[in-house]
Amino acid sequence: MTFASSSSRYEAMPYVRCGRSGLKLPGISLGLWQNFGDVNSYATGREVVLRAFDLGITHFDLANNYGPPPGSAERNFGRMLREDLRAYRDELVVSTKAGYVMWPGPYGDWGSRKSLLNSLDQSLERLGLEAVDIFYSHRFDPETPLEETMGALDTAVRSGKALYAGISNYPAEQTRRAAAILKQLGTPCLIHQARYNLLDRWIEEGLTDVIAEEGVGCIVFQPLAQGQLTARYLQGIPADSRATREWFLKTAQIHQNLPKVRALNAIAERRGQSLAEMALAWVLRQPVVTSALIGASSTAQLEQNLKALNRLEFAPEELARIEEALSAQ
Ligand code: NDP
Repeated sequence: MTFASSSSRYEAMPYVRCGRSGLKLPGISLGLWQNFGDVNSYATGREVVLRAFDLGITHFDLANNYGPPPGSAERNFGRMLREDLRAYRDELVVSTKAGYVMWPGPYGDWGSRKSLLNSLDQSLERLGLEAVDIFYSHRFDPETPLEETMGALDTAVRSGKALYAGISNYPAEQTRRAAAILKQLGTPCLIHQARYNLLDRWIEEGLTDVIAEEGVGCIVFQPLAQGQLTARYLQGIPADSRATREWFLKTAQIHQNLPKVRALNAIAERRGQSLAEMALAWVLRQPVVTSALIGASSTAQLEQNLKALNRLEFAPEELARIEEALSAQ
């Protein structure tokens, strides 16, 4: 049956200006790194994406290598675009990236012009699109001149294959240089995509200042620390959870963080929120943060996470209690 989106889809979601650009992003965006590959159920992935759009999530984040297998998340999302979301294409912000290993040999990885632009062509083919909205350099490449990597992003935009350029995982100093080069080329850096959550606060040590000064937007990924900042692992490791795959999320890491997570959970309960909701509200309290980029393996998770938007403010005592919880061993 043809998908018809809810007419109330723009009623609850806040849309936040991305840095000093003209583009607004939803307060919460959905990423397709895991749960949307060929190893996952297409029907469930589709249900999550369509529900997300119905709830006001207009931004969907991909990369060349998302799956597994690599490329399958883009192919699956391309099918949703074709079969369900075609009429809504201009209501969506679709992003993709290149910079991690994608194909064999010296050109399928890192940040050369060759790698980025060939990868973008491949992504467009898998997605069935003529252009993505945002094209990212997925990581800083210390062996390629930054001028070359940024030049490739500029070409992507000028050739009409991307509307905006972004960078991801760049340290503070390289972010400043990248923003300056892009500005000079006339294609301003729209956005920085960086990991940020209660258990990983590296962006507070310099990057947020650069982002604010340069007027770049900031979308933070893994705000739930891959599920650790939810109730998912409070009673052990569920059989259907990401941790059982021991891929990027290790059970040892979960056990190590558990005392902090339990202490945080108690604070969330006192606030009348789930831990996931509090963890999302906490990243969104950062003034530079435009959007929190979550993953979800079910519509129930997605719906719970969106409730974070109902209670974003923190009292100073709550923030102090959170700092205390984070020092728990
Ligand atoms: P999250 O921290 O949001 O973790 C998502 C996972 O947490 C879900 O798959 C689910 O795990 C669990 N979860 C989510 N909500 C709930 C809930 N309410 N209750 C219980 N468990 C919950 O982020 P991801 O690691 O998925 O990353 C999000 C996106 O960030 C990616 O899709 C990608 O777009 C981007 N990203 C970017 C990177 C970069 O280098 N630029 C790197 C990594 C991610 P389960 O599957 O076990 O149910």
